[in-house]
Amino acid sequence: MKKLLSLISLAAAAVLFAVTVFTACSGGGETPSSAASPSDETASVTSSETTSAQSEASSEASSEAMSDPSSEPSSEASSETESKPESKPESKPESKPASSEAGSSDPTPSSEPAPTGDYASVAGYVAENDARYNAYGKKHKDLSDERVVAIVNFGYDGEFYTNVLPSPNKQTKYVLVNKFYYLDRDYVPDDLVALPSAYKHASNVSLQREAYDAFIILCDAAKKAGYTILGQSGYRSYETQEKLYNKYLKNEGGNVAAVDSYSARPGHSEHQTGLAIDVVGETGSMGKYGKSKSYKWAVENVWKYGFIIHYTTANEYITGYETEEWHFRFVGKEAAAEIHSRGITVDEYLAEQINKLSS
Ligand SMILES: [Zn+2]
Repeated sequence: MKKLLSLISLAAAAVLFAVTVFTACSGGGETPSSAASPSDETASVTSSETTSAQSEASSEASSEAMSDPSSEPSSEASSETESKPESKPESKPESKPASSEAGSSDPTPSSEPAPTGDYASVAGYVAENDARYNAYGKKHKDLSDERVVAIVNFGYDGEFYTNVLPSPNKQTKYVLVNKFYYLDRDYVPDDLVALPSAYKHASNVSLQREAYDAFIILCDAAKKAGYTILGQSGYRSYETQEKLYNKYLKNEGGNVAAVDSYSARPGHSEHQTGLAIDVVGETGSMGKYGKSKSYKWAVENVWKYGFIIHYTTANEYITGYETEEWHFRFVGKEAAAEIHSRGITVDEYLAEQINKLSS
């Protein structure tokens, strides 16, 4: 009898251990306020928050999720409670991507011309911005004169979330959303499509049609190369982002600056465009994606499929977000190749398109 009892208690301990380990690996339910910050936007859009445009697809998606093993133990819980990466990556990822795969069609990223501070000779120079060019150039000594002039002309030298403007290039793959440009509450991208279960790690992940097609091709290419890329969170409505942001704000005890460093304010989330997707790799975790083999592959390859890893440590001065290795923004192959080869930010490229598209 004694033996039986000790066997039972041994079994109980084993179960407890297994549960503890499992909980820790899946993002857990514990979200201490200091470590909770699930990056900008982890939540998958719940079926109640879907739009009419995607309602048909979403009902299919929710039923799929019921039997989708990838969404266990609870896709909602795992995406809601994803923790930020424990440590910052030591190296700055792909801001100036090293050219890879010698002999491939990879355009060699041009190295940034050395700054001279002679802004007046740069195309686009505006005399009244001269003091701002000088101030910005002093703060960002690694930027060429051309980029300093362009960045200041776009207004990116200003404070985040002040003097915000309506997003330009709406309903195109060049729609610009950041801490300077916003989408209205009622903006919903045309033609949202829900990802099939084999391409996602949450119950409902939708993308705008062109981004969807490109994402499928990207996932298939990654798989062929031996890596995993799955969608965790795609399109999010203004209301969903509002709820998320407020939830984080509550977790952070009202510390706006802290939340702003990893979550977009409603109307300012790239996820509202239907062109951005948070991914997981073989670890099944967004927070751990930056350390995964899949991420290494992604840094060198996603641009070939029309995506850019938008929020990097090196880009934080323009984006205002801490690094998010898992956040891919679709811009199309042509734009992605140019952003990659010029070593500029998505924000600069898309701002350049404003005049081109409207002229
Ligand atoms: Zn994201």
